[in-house]
Amino acid sequence: MGMVREVRIAKRTGFCYGVREAVDKAKESADAGKRTHTLGQVVHNEGVIAELGARGVVSIAELFEADAGSTVVIRAHGVTPAVRSAAAERGLEMIDGTCSWVIGEQRQLQGLVADGYTIVLLGTPNHPEVVGLLGFAPDAIVVDDESDWDRIPRKKRMALITQSTQPPWKFERLAAFMVSRAHELKIINSVCPVTIRRQEDTVELARAVDFIVVVGGRQSANTRELTRLCEIVGTPAIQVERAGDLTDASVFGSSGVVGVTGGTSTPIEDLEAVAERILTLAGTGDATVRAHDLAVAALGAAATPAGRTTSLPSPVLAAAR
Ligand code: SF4
Repeated sequence: MGMVREVRIAKRTGFCYGVREAVDKAKESADAGKRTHTLGQVVHNEGVIAELGARGVVSIAELFEADAGSTVVIRAHGVTPAVRSAAAERGLEMIDGTCSWVIGEQRQLQGLVADGYTIVLLGTPNHPEVVGLLGFAPDAIVVDDESDWDRIPRKKRMALITQSTQPPWKFERLAAFMVSRAHELKIINSVCPVTIRRQEDTVELARAVDFIVVVGGRQSANTRELTRLCEIVGTPAIQVERAGDLTDASVFGSSGVVGVTGGTSTPIEDLEAVAERILTLAGTGDATVRAHDLAVAALGAAATPAGRTTSLPSPVLAAAR
């Protein structure tokens, strides 16, 4: 028997609006009877991919894998203009699930190119969003960690823009660094507000609990950043991909109240499952017995339904309406 008596879930968790829209579009297309593909996994989450697969949505890595006449859903990260042209040439119907925030970034880049700026893009090389953005500014210099920044040249007119999910502190530090690199520096803060709010809510939660579990893909930069922020707050934290990753009750030590938060591609169903798993694994006697009910209540108490976005049919949401 453990010591956990309560689990709290961060406000405004679940899919961000961009991911939710892309997943919904894939589902709607398949439900309408279209042979539907997503170009790349629409979200790196096994449960979501399995559900899409059950509805007939097949993920492909390259356009040539799609049969002529089938439908391809572009995920929230967006694609290059060349990919759009190639889809049209192959006779594929394209459903655009590019997040509206990313479309905004793409337009900003086009404007910077037209205005002749030397562009620095803060982002993870080969991340799909960055690959898509480079389609609009092929000469942009992509930098990530501070060790890259020496590659930034000194130019008269420079512009800085960022991949949507980069940490705000890194963007601000790079902006300060670039002040001395250019005579004119144009800064476009394209860090997604959803990412920022997610971080604020996670910090607030981390301050109020004894231990925190961060749920999301290991490769997800925004999930890793949430874990890092919990550590900065001083709250012990672990990062898991799913409830089944929690197997050792001893990690919770003597924690009485445990927090759960998740990245922008983590559905709320996973958060609820993790909450239940924590209580089953490390709860007090009473909490273990009531693990399911407490987990459902934790999700219900987390935020308004709009702040608990999901694409999946959810009895919790239905009950909350
Ligand atoms: S994190 Fe922001 S920019 Fe990225 S898909 Fe979600 S809403 Fe869009």
